[in-house]
Amino acid sequence: MPFNLYNSLSGKTEEFAPAQGNLVRFYDCGPTVYDYGHIGNFRTFIAVDVLRRFLHQSGFDLLHVMNITDVDDKIIRNANQRGLPIGEYTKKYEKAFLDDLDALSVQHPEVISRATEHIPEMAEFIQKLAKKRVAYKAEDGSWYFRIDKFKDYGKLSKKDFTGITNGGGGRMDADEYDKDDARDFALWKAPKEGEASWDTEIGPGRPGWHIECSTMAMKYLGETFDLHAGGEDLLFPHHENEIAQSESLTGKPFARHWMHVRFLLVEGQKMSKSLGNFYTLRDLVLLGHKPSSIRLLLISVPYRKQLNFTFDGLVQAANSVERLRNFKLRMETSHWDEGSNPEISVLAGKAIQEMTSSLNDDLNTAQALAAIFDLVRDVNAAADHGKVKKDDIPSVLEALRRFDEIFAIFDDQDAARVKTVVDWAKTEGLEEKISPQAAEIARAASLSDADIEEMVAKHSEARKARDFKASDAIRDQLLAEGIILENTKDDVRWKRK
Ligand code: AMP
Ligand code: ZN
Repeated sequence: MPFNLYNSLSGKTEEFAPAQGNLVRFYDCGPTVYDYGHIGNFRTFIAVDVLRRFLHQSGFDLLHVMNITDVDDKIIRNANQRGLPIGEYTKKYEKAFLDDLDALSVQHPEVISRATEHIPEMAEFIQKLAKKRVAYKAEDGSWYFRIDKFKDYGKLSKKDFTGITNGGGGRMDADEYDKDDARDFALWKAPKEGEASWDTEIGPGRPGWHIECSTMAMKYLGETFDLHAGGEDLLFPHHENEIAQSESLTGKPFARHWMHVRFLLVEGQKMSKSLGNFYTLRDLVLLGHKPSSIRLLLISVPYRKQLNFTFDGLVQAANSVERLRNFKLRMETSHWDEGSNPEISVLAGKAIQEMTSSLNDDLNTAQALAAIFDLVRDVNAAADHGKVKKDDIPSVLEALRRFDEIFAIFDDQDAARVKTVVDWAKTEGLEEKISPQAAEIARAASLSDADIEEMVAKHSEARKARDFKASDAIRDQLLAEGIILENTKDDVRWKRK
């Protein structure tokens, strides 16, 4: 079954496969580390995680490179305000970003590369462009890319630039007055008072934004590579400019396939601080929402469809995670009669096949989720009627395992992850943002699994001895720590709230 993925470059859904062997070489534009990541950012990073995981599941090896933009206007401004060197300022937010990826079970790329660690390479790149006469130095020492030298300019964004010439409506930044053409973009910015700058072969200054991605993508992946990803806002001008720089240098295609993730809306509107609908991942966790619910919600809508984030949707996602985890627990811990019911493995096989074909269809995560929920519904119904037998369980668990290779929500680390965020809030003096719900979830993380098992065993003993006062006391104690006990007819199960 081929993997069909929409390609923004061709404007079509096309079969995706690596150009060489089994290794997929891909690049995605990472964060600008000037603040904590918001849920829009994480929608994009989770979509790329789904791609990663599905490629793996389909048998490919990955070389995935992500940059960290650790020098730009906002970083310089914020670091100056705090009186910190930019490296010190960005370190904190880079770590926060990687911790947030972990909280959301997003796998790390094989290579994470920082812009500030590739300055000489960027200068060399610009020098080569200058030799080809597609880059020029302005009077102030900044370098620009000469767009009229690249005839394919606009091929990704499909914009028509014919009407925009010098002074003809192109937007020019105040400090970019000495460009030859309004459309030309900065490759290198001349130093300014109080700004970080580097001494290089092309003079002092700092890189423009686009050059870092071309430089690092080609350094780690080669002149032509398989896929380039990012949020839809990057399509123009960032990715268009990456193509212009890279293809002018090499004369070869840059990325073969381009994937762009649709922007997230919050309660029907563009997320913005002024509208009061702006949420970092940490904001949501402190409000008492679990990372697993946030992950599932952000995955539940296919990456090219509009995802409207709402708090109702988040509660529904939390219920879905619960339902799936309870189902898995039921499969693993119930007593099943000997034998088999072939209908069950047929249902499990069908779910696997539907999940795979949905993901092969431009990563249709909504349909893949529907397939697993059909399985949950049908197998639960069969189990209620005693129609699930011992030998059927492995096929159901296999379907769940394959589902979780992509969705990654079964491993319940929510309590520990919420605790990490709650502890962080305390160290940052943000105690007032910690909701009672978040505090309660975090409390459950203080007990180790072994502690809980021991208490559950005592609870069971007390129950068997019909000492209900003692067993209820243990149950209440566990509940206060965020642990819920469920008595079934055979045994006692526990889970974290
Ligand atoms: P930034 O840190 O702004 O460079 O963004 C990091 C990534 O998040 C980029 O791929 C952006 O395109 C993406 N992004 C930013 N805002 C949103 C949003 N509201 N929805 C989806 N992706 C976003
Ligand atoms: Zn980029």
